[in-house]
This record gives sequence, C-alpha cells and structure tokens, in this order.
Amino acid sequence: MDIIPMHLGVAHFKTPQIAIDAMQEALVSQETYYGPNEGIAELRLAVAQRYFEDDGIPVPAEQVLITHGTKHALHLFLQSFLQPGDEVIAPAPFWFAFPEMVSQAGGKLISLPPNPEEDYALPLSAIKEHLSPTTRLLLLTNPGNPTGRAYSLKELEAVAQLMEQHASLHVLSDEIYDGLALHGTIKSFLHFEHLRHRVTVVNGFSKSFAMSGWRIGYIIAPFPVLQKVNELQQKIISGVSPFTQVGAAAALRHRHQIWEGFKNELLQKREKVAAVLQQLPQLSYVLPDAGYYFTIDIKGCLEEHSPASPFKLVEEWAAALKEQVGLEVLPGTAMGMPTAVRMSYALPDYVLASALDRLSAFVKH
Ligand code: PMP
Repeated sequence: MDIIPMHLGVAHFKTPQIAIDAMQEALVSQETYYGPNEGIAELRLAVAQRYFEDDGIPVPAEQVLITHGTKHALHLFLQSFLQPGDEVIAPAPFWFAFPEMVSQAGGKLISLPPNPEEDYALPLSAIKEHLSPTTRLLLLTNPGNPTGRAYSLKELEAVAQLMEQHASLHVLSDEIYDGLALHGTIKSFLHFEHLRHRVTVVNGFSKSFAMSGWRIGYIIAPFPVLQKVNELQQKIISGVSPFTQVGAAAALRHRHQIWEGFKNELLQKREKVAAVLQQLPQLSYVLPDAGYYFTIDIKGCLEEHSPASPFKLVEEWAAALKEQVGLEVLPGTAMGMPTAVRMSYALPDYVLASALDRLSAFVKH
C-alpha cells in the first residue's frame, strides 16, 4: 500500500520561480564566493523592509542576521543566550525539536498544558503561574506549529505587559509560518519597540516560501545577543551562500503575490479537511488560522475514554493508521500533547481526497 505522508513539515508547493530565476542570475554573475557573515545587504534590507512596509514596524537592517535556516537561527540564539539551568517556558503543543534544542543549550523547557478548549489562546495565566526566578525566556510560535493558531495583537500585548513587570523575561518568537495566514495578517512580536532589547524573532523561507532545501533563515535580536550569534556563526560555518540569498530576497520582495497564491489553495484544502473531521465526532480539532497542519485530538479513540479501543497510546493509534490505511501522521507526544496527532494537509487535491477517505474509513471502522 502506498503511504500518504501527512506527517511531514513540507508543503507540495513549488518554490517560487522568481527566486529560482534570481538565484540563477546571481550564479551566472559569479556571486559564488564567501559573502558577509551577517548575510548580504540586499537580503537584510528586504527583511527589514517587509516589517516596515506591511506593519509600519521599523527594523534596522543591521539588526537582521541571515542564518542557514530557522533551525540554525534558533540553535545559535539559544546557545548564545541561555545560561546553564535557565528555564524556557513554552505553550504546548510546540514544535517537537524545541525541547532538545533548549537542553543542548543548557536550558530546561517548561511545557505549559495544551488548551484546545480555549482554541489554543495564548495561556497568560499559565505563563504567570510558571514564572520562577530561573525563568529566562518565553518561547512563542506564532502562528503555531502544530496548532496553526495566530495570536491576536491583544494577546501579544498582554505578554508585553507581563514583560514590563518582569524585567529579566525575554521573548523568543518563532514566526516561520507567518506568510501562510489564511485570514488577515500575523502580528509580529517586533511590534513592541520599547521591549526590543528583550525580544528575538526568528523566521525563514522553508514554510512561507516553499524553499526548505535552500536553508535560509534569519534572526532579529537585541544587538548584544546578535553580536554573539554572529561570532558563533562565523566560528562554526560562516555566512550563507550569497547566490541563494539573492533568490530569497527576490521571493521576499514578491511576498504578497506568492502568499496570495498559497493562501487561496490552503483555504480550500482546509475546508475540505474540516468538512470530513466534522463527520468524525471521535476526533476533535480547532480550525487553524494559518499554516498547513491540523492538530487533531484523538483521545476519544484511546482506551482511557473508549474502553473497547485497542489503543492505549497515540503512537499505537498512529501506527495502526499507517499500517491499516497507509496514512502517516505525527504523534503529539514530543510536542507536549500526548493525545494529539499533527496532520499536514498541504498535499495535491487528489492525494488529500484519498487521505481523507482513508482517515474516515479508519476512524469509523
Ligand atoms: N521553527 C518551526 C516552528 C518549524 O516548524 C520549523 C520547521 N519544521 C523550523 C523552525 C525550522 O525551519 P528551517 O527549515 O528554516 O530550519
């Protein structure tokens, strides 16, 4: 049986042609040598401009550092910023890579309980409850992976207020899915200019531009942290290839056109998934605002809630789904939500239709 890969964090979208063309031109013009460690000026400026043009947020281009992907940006930041024993608070469910990245940097990830009953609202009271003298960082993913939840400006403002009361608290906001907002736009944490000395934003081209193989990301951080990040990048790998950055800059300048296309396609697919899930009362979900995942709570299919079920753990349910109907989804245990699975719907229509038929057949069986 063929396996439909709904567990992956890559969409079926093609890389924008504009990026490929610009990169090819740069290659032909021999932009093939070491570039500046911080990234080429053209891309740093394009990043700074996007925030100003779209949201009126001033970001100096010197505060933007180009990295070898967003994972690398996160890694460099955590290594540069955390001290042994620092606590990092993150609302669950979160990207599965976070706990290990934090622990590699000597920190400890404190997972806040998932709150699907509140549509994964930013859990302010849980954050307050878990703040301790060793809390150094609040790690937000906006929009969320796997939830697809986009935080409202009001929710972010509440966090900004909390930062005003807790002078040592920093925020790291991972905004890598921000081009894939299905309604409206994503509010960046960079919005709070007066807190910029305690705010770091990471972003990249893998998701919003379907350029995961290009390995380009960026970090906007307070200058003292950025300097350490820059030194670390220089020591271990040097700057990103200049010709790929030229392609990324072209994509960024054409972002609205690119995002409009992705959004229209994702919206249609999201409705198809939701229409099927509504027919399956054993599964519960919150409609995502952005990105291409559904977080599906399957606790109704586990033994604890349905004594006749053969499945105790989400991993067993997911393994049976793969074995019996050829659908691969990602169990949420490593994401801090052990009753959920993450399911990507960024698949060609005919594949998605088959996947949804298989899911229904499995759950109704
Ligand atoms: N952050 C989040 C929330 C992600 O989902 C991912 C990719 N799955 C990354 C960072 C890493 O992205 P990149 O390919 O740019 O390293």
